[in-house]
Amino acid sequence: MRQKIVAGNWKMNKNLDEAKKLIKGIKKGVKDGLNDNTRVIIAPSFVNLNTAIKRTKKSSIEVAAQNMHQSKSGAFTGEVSADMLTDIGVDIVILGHSERREYFGESDALLAEKVDAALENNLEIIFCFGELLEDRKSGNHFNVVESQLKKGLFHLKKEDFSKIVLAYEPVWAIGTGETASPEQAQEMHAFVREIMTKEYGATVANEISILYGGSVKPANAKEIFSKQDVDGGLIGGAALKAEDFLAIIKSI
Ligand code: PEP
Repeated sequence: MRQKIVAGNWKMNKNLDEAKKLIKGIKKGVKDGLNDNTRVIIAPSFVNLNTAIKRTKKSSIEVAAQNMHQSKSGAFTGEVSADMLTDIGVDIVILGHSERREYFGESDALLAEKVDAALENNLEIIFCFGELLEDRKSGNHFNVVESQLKKGLFHLKKEDFSKIVLAYEPVWAIGTGETASPEQAQEMHAFVREIMTKEYGATVANEISILYGGSVKPANAKEIFSKQDVDGGLIGGAALKAEDFLAIIKSI
């Protein structure tokens, strides 16, 4: 049975004190226990990862990094390696977020390198992909998504997919308040499962979790999560308030 996941991407938000308060609020809300098959992940900024790891130790909350560099070490000022993450107890990394692709020029080829580096270090990956508004308007969204998955992930072996979670995030729906309709999300998730089946077989395709991301909030989470191929969400803005994030978790 595939896992249900709600992951909060905090982006460049929350100083140390704010991060502690948010963790405390989420911890309090999930204390009563989640159902067995649901995971809750938070992704604070690099500087708050250590604190997040320490403060979630005795809880069921998991901690992810928002990015990492593809090299082992070296003269890459300002960057963080996979080994640095695992060394402090981080087991998960988000790769391919549209903001990394757009503002930091991360290409599919670079992401394939990051994917390899993460797997070499035994990190689980939340791999993001999704089309721009113009791709959707021109009807090219399926091609774009297929190409992103092929170039970023399809060099991997079947076994590697036990360490991959997919996150479909149509760029036009991220931080815009505009959500893909539950039907649009389902349609793309089903398409992704179809191409995964073609490339890696039905078992891999059925077991991989595919999250939806793009303006998910308490008011729309239940409907989106009710779709057959939507296994949870990657949440941005609504992950910054404990009560909203908890309400979304409860919607799964
Ligand atoms: C995101 O950045 O991954 C995201 C989905 O953001 P938001 O929920 O704010 O649209």
